[in-house]
Amino acid sequence: MIAAKHSVTVNDRAYRWMDRPLIVICVDGSEPDYITQAIRAGAAPYLQEMCGKGTSLLADAVVPSFTNPNNLSIVTGVPPAVHGICGNYFYDRETGTEVMMTDPAYLRAGTILAGFSHAGAKVVVITAKDKLCRLLGHQLENGICFSAEKADQTTMAVNGVDDALALSGMVLPAVYSSQLSEFVFAAGLKLMATQRPDIMYLSTTDYVQHKDAPGTPGANAFYSMLDAYLRQLDALGATIALTADHGMNAKTDAKGDPNIIFLQDALDEWIGKNAARVILPITDPYVAHHGALGSFATAYLPAGVQAGNIVTRLAALPGVEAAYERAAGCRRFELPEDRMGDVIIVAERHSVLGTTRDRHDLSGLEVPLRSHGGTAEKTVPMLFNRRAVGIDFSRRLRNFDIFDIALNRLQ
Ligand SMILES: [Zn+2]
Repeated sequence: MIAAKHSVTVNDRAYRWMDRPLIVICVDGSEPDYITQAIRAGAAPYLQEMCGKGTSLLADAVVPSFTNPNNLSIVTGVPPAVHGICGNYFYDRETGTEVMMTDPAYLRAGTILAGFSHAGAKVVVITAKDKLCRLLGHQLENGICFSAEKADQTTMAVNGVDDALALSGMVLPAVYSSQLSEFVFAAGLKLMATQRPDIMYLSTTDYVQHKDAPGTPGANAFYSMLDAYLRQLDALGATIALTADHGMNAKTDAKGDPNIIFLQDALDEWIGKNAARVILPITDPYVAHHGALGSFATAYLPAGVQAGNIVTRLAALPGVEAAYERAAGCRRFELPEDRMGDVIIVAERHSVLGTTRDRHDLSGLEVPLRSHGGTAEKTVPMLFNRRAVGIDFSRRLRNFDIFDIALNRLQ
């Protein structure tokens, strides 16, 4: 099967077979300034080398700038309009239920990871949180796929590896900890050293980024940890490609109180109690670090209510950056129309969108709110440890071009 090894085509994009192991890393919530500040503080000497000798670019993430839509775009090479995962939830009007999109049944495109595994490549996927695992590992053949969160429960049959916990040499980390991300690198390093897979996809959690601003001791410590692992992975001869799913911004006023626009409260006042349904696609089972507050929302309106009028009123709310009717919003952000509401709302840089005042539990927030979801968090870093040539800068560079650059454009 030599012929199959020249390239693999997935979702109409052709990827060259790798000439050395490729490690693609999605650092969750890694606003570009985290890396800049860590380098400036001397905490990230390897990342500094990467920027100098390799390639350092900025790219646009997918909006909503949330974890799942972006991770899935990165591993499929296409936007949510094609792969279907536009958030953690959508509302099914027919059944009147909110549907969680963490099941691969909702994925409409194959992944580059699965494509290469079918062509005979050994593929490893390690995530911090378990919610991403099933989506990223979908249709992987003879691969390894597990999360740090459930590393103590892996089996050869399900995950391709027994006892992943032992790989890292660490104790099982807490879900809300920076160790959850460190585990991903520790296990990845061990697997690269012992099994030398062809492709490895590592995805962290933004626990630190939700808490610590760029340049703070907590943030620099995280990037210092990451930096040390990257150097060791580089020493094993791998190509390293690093990007982020989204950035991160403070969502507070001068006092440190969150700037929240309660959309359900506004819609209730305009068209009647619970007549509309607001969906916050950031909502997932792990809300303590952001209170389910992000800068992107969609709302379903009852029959007979003109979306255009509501869009005008929503756009006029203080803190709202823009509001769109479904078709226009889906065109603008490349989203699947059948999984979005009648209106789409994006908040400004320092504001977030909520449902009703009484539905958000902010007691889990130990520090002033930092979050993401809007266009203000769409710029992300894209770094490679080798020089890229022939990138077409006339078109918009996206974080989901990372496999294309890593496999087709590096020297
Ligand atoms: Zn994220």
